[in-house]
Amino acid sequence: MEYNRFMINKEILLTEALSVLNPRDLSEDASCASVAAALVTDRGNIYKGVCIDVPCSLGFCAEYSAIASMLTAGESRIAAIIAVTENERILPPCGRCRELMYQVNHENMDTVVFLSDGSRTLKELLPEVWN
Ligand SMILES: [Zn+2]
Repeated sequence: MEYNRFMINKEILLTEALSVLNPRDLSEDASCASVAAALVTDRGNIYKGVCIDVPCSLGFCAEYSAIASMLTAGESRIAAIIAVTENERILPPCGRCRELMYQVNHENMDTVVFLSDGSRTLKELLPEVWN
């Protein structure tokens, strides 16, 4: 599918991600939303998520949260994605999130991943996939 240029807009996605950025403690040793992510699908829908940081490796990334929300709504094709921290620093996705994007829809190799210095496709960030 050829994407509408307006669907893949860094400023719009950044604004959406910042709208859910809300760092807060959940308990004495757990916190959330210090990183927020937003993605837009091939249908033009935006899904957002925040990180969950808890002890004993149960937490997960903001991108994971946004991808779960997208899947819950019945979609899987990501046109573009962005993640941002509380000082508005744009973060590249970790390896686990890169692999997840591919595994939920192999066409996501064309996903535009916004970075601090522009953008790359998922294929550029994930040259070798698990299979
Ligand atoms: Zn991650």
